[in-house]
Amino acid sequence: MSENSTRIDDLPIREELRGKSPYGAPQLDVPVRLNTNENPYPLPEELVARIAERVTEAARGLNRYPDRDAVELRSRLAEYLSRTAGHRVSTEQVWAANGSNEVLQQLLQAFGGPGRTALGFEPSYSMHALISRGTGTAWLSGPRNDDFTIDVDAAVAAIAEHRPDVVFVCSPNNPTGTAVDAETVLALHDAAQAVKPTMVVVDEAYGEFSHRPSLLPLIEGRPTLVVSRTMSKAFGAAGLRLGYLAADPAVVDAVQLVRLPYHLSAVTQATALAALEHTDTLLGYVEQLKGERDRLVAELTALGLEVTPSDANFVQFGVFEDAHATWQAVLDRGVLIRDNGVPGRLRVSVGTPEENDAFLDAVRAVTKENQR
Ligand code: PMP
Repeated sequence: MSENSTRIDDLPIREELRGKSPYGAPQLDVPVRLNTNENPYPLPEELVARIAERVTEAARGLNRYPDRDAVELRSRLAEYLSRTAGHRVSTEQVWAANGSNEVLQQLLQAFGGPGRTALGFEPSYSMHALISRGTGTAWLSGPRNDDFTIDVDAAVAAIAEHRPDVVFVCSPNNPTGTAVDAETVLALHDAAQAVKPTMVVVDEAYGEFSHRPSLLPLIEGRPTLVVSRTMSKAFGAAGLRLGYLAADPAVVDAVQLVRLPYHLSAVTQATALAALEHTDTLLGYVEQLKGERDRLVAELTALGLEVTPSDANFVQFGVFEDAHATWQAVLDRGVLIRDNGVPGRLRVSVGTPEENDAFLDAVRAVTKENQR
């Protein structure tokens, strides 16, 4: 950048954005990339062909705006959840947007905003705080126990003290992999409602990888409880940008007050519908990844490392005196993992068996060197 070029802070930018950095995992060109919790398996060729067919069909109507309410897609998502998440939901209870990040943004636009507060439990998905900030919502972080589970008593006390408008619960939690049990969610939900009506958003982006059942059934009779999901992980379609939520129909009505008209393109809707036709094949990959996840946990543990139990498609491990130096040493061996800034810990996304082997070899070499 030249010396005379305008910087962000030279612009009349909102005060709370001054000096901040954008979200960004490094995208480096190395042989093994296990840093963004993507699904390592490309979509099967059959599905690629079906996407081409459905997109071609959609292209014939691109002179028109898409279905603003994405009704067909929402009804297929409702069927998917009803079949796999232990609770029957209707089309009216499901809403879809461009990635679950956009779902979370719409929720914060509707239920957060200036003068309001969101509470999460860090370390957790950093975008919860960033989207809060972007929507003018104040952000507060509640505590976790040493094993990265939510400290329920402290969380209940934080809710009573800070009276948040939105509470985020990430299960399985990114970056720790920790699943949250239904009792914890109910305790937080009850504590929050005891103060005032409060939205509790359960981010289940990695729900399909969990050993535990989905928390979706908890939405029954609780109009302030929302579950968000994504096709970026289990469906292996991070490039599609399709996230969704399930909640009381009133929540779906509320997000429609803030969504942009025609936010979900006809091409996106067609692609997602094609992917949903291949759910069973895609969930087969999820089973393979769960097996590989459990293998990574076992092998890292066998190396003498401390591994956080994982219900996701990634594993947090440590404890390193200098986690960033270890991250760099693993990268020097051609494997990109993630330093999320959790002291002493690193996170690896589950890859193909070959990628996981390459990762384990790199960690073995690095830990051996450290012991010297
Ligand atoms: N929630 C969590 C916990 C995540 O880790 C991610 C992606 N890293 C998302 C939501 C957003 O995913 P997407 O926008 O691709 O649906």
